[in-house]
Amino acid sequence: MEVIQRSADELQTALVSKRQDLVKLYSKYTNEEKRFLEEGLHPGPSHIFQAITVLSDSDWIPAHPEKSQDFESFYRDPNRMTPNANHNTIYIQPIGSIGVAGFQTDQYVEWLRGYCQAFFYGLSVKLLPTVSVADTGCAFRVNSNSHNLQILTGDLLQFLGKQKPEDAFCIVGITMIDLYPKDSWNFVFGQASLNRGIGVFSFARYDDNFYSRNYAGRLQTQLQPKPGHYSVFDGYYTPPITSTLLLRSCKKLETYNCCLQTMTHEIGHMFGIKHCQWLSCVMQGSNHLEESDRRPLDFCPICLRKLQVSINFKIAERYKALLHWMEEDQSPAAACSSVPKPTEAFQTSKLWLYRCLDVLLKQNG
Ligand SMILES: [Zn+2]
Ligand SMILES: [Zn+2]
Repeated sequence: MEVIQRSADELQTALVSKRQDLVKLYSKYTNEEKRFLEEGLHPGPSHIFQAITVLSDSDWIPAHPEKSQDFESFYRDPNRMTPNANHNTIYIQPIGSIGVAGFQTDQYVEWLRGYCQAFFYGLSVKLLPTVSVADTGCAFRVNSNSHNLQILTGDLLQFLGKQKPEDAFCIVGITMIDLYPKDSWNFVFGQASLNRGIGVFSFARYDDNFYSRNYAGRLQTQLQPKPGHYSVFDGYYTPPITSTLLLRSCKKLETYNCCLQTMTHEIGHMFGIKHCQWLSCVMQGSNHLEESDRRPLDFCPICLRKLQVSINFKIAERYKALLHWMEEDQSPAAACSSVPKPTEAFQTSKLWLYRCLDVLLKQNG
């Protein structure tokens, strides 16, 4: 195991920058916000922020050397997209059925929507009505190794481009069906066109049973569906909505080649936030599910500042909204009126949010 140690000076420059205008911009944060962001200069096991640990050569950083993006290089990037008054909504487009029953679909995508809205605090996140696989007109196949159905990402991105509303900052398609980017590839978790603000992600492989021999999404090996015969998707298996599945969907994941990520991580890229190499952070790249599960659910201070200048929220308000999302279903009234949100897997994040708010809400002296 290797810990990527960065000096406090190096982290300070990455966070604040040495450019006068950016130092001035930084000085507009409240004392509490500055104190909180600067917690990141001293990462450690008992601290709010952690250094990055690399467990093996198959982890993202050793496998994909990339240039570190500090706050200044993010800020100066002429190609980054920023929401504005006319483009301030994130749209989520569910594709195909999600969950075993209709209400579960609605509930799950609503949970994801609510999470995204708290995460990108200040933007509005809207759900588009679910479309069937046939509606997208995409190509599909049966994977010759795993024998599950897969749909073609390029066709889906094209479909989403046409669906994208006028006021969209970005549109993300989500599906429980596995994806492939081209015939020669086994699969992808997702794919995005960052400069067009379009992405599509599959949660199929977040199913704990996906890699087991008796995975319920395997078709009979003989079946070779014809192009355009979408009836094969009718009643096709979708994973049960468990707490782990919800946590993993809220986070992100990617295969190498940079075309794979999920929800918050991927939407983060749409703001121009690159992979984080500073601290343990939701924007770190990850090569495999185990590595993704090790990542925290939220940003390090450097990436947080990038998002904050893009949307312009109060840092404490954003954490309060995230905490509210994790706790809102736990009142007795909510528990008997609807399906309880499976947030057990969010316990660590919840305690972490309390610690952040502790620093942010503590007055000086
Ligand atoms: Zn990524
Ligand atoms: Zn970061």
